This record gives sequence, C-alpha cells and structure tokens, in this order.
Amino acid sequence: IYKCGNEAQKQKYLPAMASMEKIGCFGLTEPESGSDASNLSTTATRKANGWVLNGQKRWIGNGTFADIYIIWAMNAETKQVNGFIVEKGTPGLTSTKIENKIGLRCVQNADIYLTDCFVTDDCRLPLATNFATGPGNCLFLTRLSTAWIACGMALGALESALEYTKQRKQFGQPLAKLQIIQERLARMLSICQSTALLVWRASVMCDDGKLSLGQVGLCKAHATSQARVVVSLAREIVGGNGMLTDYLVGKHFVDIEGLHTFEGSYDINVLVGMRELTGQSAIKPRK
Ligand SMILES: Cc1cc2nc3c(=O)[nH]c(=O)nc-3n(C[C@H](O)[C@H](O)[C@H](O)COP(=O)(O)OP(=O)(O)OC[C@H]3O[C@@H](n4cnc5c(N)ncnc54)[C@H](O)[C@@H]3O)c2cc1C
Repeated sequence: IYKCGNEAQKQKYLPAMASMEKIGCFGLTEPESGSDASNLSTTATRKANGWVLNGQKRWIGNGTFADIYIIWAMNAETKQVNGFIVEKGTPGLTSTKIENKIGLRCVQNADIYLTDCFVTDDCRLPLATNFATGPGNCLFLTRLSTAWIACGMALGALESALEYTKQRKQFGQPLAKLQIIQERLARMLSICQSTALLVWRASVMCDDGKLSLGQVGLCKAHATSQARVVVSLAREIVGGNGMLTDYLVGKHFVDIEGLHTFEGSYDINVLVGMRELTGQSAIKPRK
C-alpha cells in the first residue's frame, strides 16, 4: 500500500497497520509459482465497478489471521500482474494454516483460496501496473530488510555460542580457552561484521536512491548465505545442546533456512545480480 497505493488507500490502512491494530499479509507465491513469481495463475477479471479474483496462494505469512490481504493477480485483459487490497471477511476469501514448518514457527503461513472474490475498484493498487512496479517494487525493500534480519540472527547465534564457550568446561577448562573454538568464534565475528557493513552500505545507498535491483539481490543473497555459515558454526560449538530448542542457536539454525528461501531464493537473487553485471539473464532456461 505504501509503495503502490494512492493517497486514500494510505490514509485508510497505513496508520492502523503501523500501530499494529491491523495486520497485513503479502500474497504473491502460488502452489505452482514460487521463484517464477511473475507467472501467476490467480486472475483478476474486470466487472462493473470492480474485479473478481480467482486462484490460490501459498506460504503467505500472517495469512491465517490478517485483516488486510494484498493479493497479486494476473489482469485477465492486460496479462500483467496487478495488486488488490482484500479485507478479511470478504466473501470468496478463505485460508488454512500450513502445518509442520521446521523454522520461523512464530509466523503462521497460509494457503489462501480465492473463489469469485469480488473487490471494488478502489481496492486496486493503482501504481502496480505490472510485476516490476507491483510486487517487484515491494520485494526491493523487503530483500534489504531480510538481509538485516540475517545479520541479527548471525549476531544472536554468535552471542549465544560465545556465552556458552565461557560456561561450558571440557578437559578441565572452558571451551573458550581452546584454540579451535577461538578460531571459529573469530570466523563468525568477521562474517557478522563484514556482512553488517555490507548491508549498512546498501541501506545508505538505498536511502540515497542509488541502490540497484541487482545490488539489493546480491546483498540479500550474501547476508543469508553468510548467516547460514555463522549459525551452523554456532550450533556446532554448542555441541549436543545445539540440537535442543532450549538453546537459541538451534532456533537460528532452522530459522535462517526460511530467510535463505523467501523474498527470492538465494539462487534467484544471485541471478538477478549477475543479470545486471553480465547483461545476460540465466534465470529462464532457453528453449
Ligand atoms: C517461511 C516462508 C515464508 C514465506 N512467506 C511468504 C509470504 O508472506 N508471501 C509470499 O508471497 N510468499 C512467501 N513465501 C514463499 C517464498 O517466496 C517462496 O518459497 C520462494 O520464492 C521460493 O519458491 P518455492 O518455494 O516455490 O521454490 P521453487 O521456486 O520451486 O525453487 C526450488 C529451488 O529451485 C531453485 N530455483 C528455482 N528457479 C531457479 C532458477 N531459475 N535458477 C536456479 N535455481 C532456481 C530455487 O532457488 C530453490 O532452491 C514464504 C516462504 C517461506 C519458506
């Protein structure tokens, strides 16, 4: 709504969302459309005074209880991706919770079903006229925030592991006194610091309007892949206890997998970055 909505939509929804009175969700992914995100099967068909939405969404965070659903759908006429605000309780919109997620368990992800779901004209996001100006525009910012979350997870894992090495004794001495452990901690620290500096630099460039789509993709891909290295080392340092949910490193170990995959997987973000650098797109296989 902030990126693609008009003034009336911003006034109507954003204050309540900012104060958490209303919860939103972002409905892009579909059962058959994950990385190939612009190839949507959900359709938006023009009717008198509005639009009829039909299709299915998958993996939508907060989708079980959100007040406001942003649904991305293929405009049946223009064959371009458009965005729609659908309020909770709108006839034709239902959702079910995806069970058995291994990580990010505090977030509920949903399958969303749209069956002849009618929304009025003023629910369409006017600035989202295609994939790039719609969901792509939003993913630009969320890729940067995901990179920051990865930094936080890596730092959290490092802090937990460091504390553990000071407490845990083996062979009559704290783990922190062992050279191999110190080398691992040093590696984790250098990754945390260099990644945070990279993401900070990207954020400054973003504020200055100088960050490109390829750069934000590479930044997200680097931050999550490096955080993965850090949480893996942290889990190893905490030994058997690193397998327990009682210790934070185990939580980071599984949570980082979600970050590595959503907002464009590692692969997709790397390929978006390389498309910009080489001038060659390797995302879609050549027929
Ligand atoms: C915890 C979680 C929360 C999520 N929240 C949301 C949400 O709120 N809203 C929403 O819309 N979506 C959400 N998603 C969906 C997420 O964006 C997709 O999972 C993601 O885009 C990948 O799609 P996919 O899972 O279908 O994997 P696929 O696209 O099937 O990819 C499978 C593997 O193939 C690789 N791959 C695919 N295409 C290529 C290619 N061209 N070249 C090289 N490798 C490739 C991928 O990198 C991946 O490793 C969430 C997902 C998770 C796990």
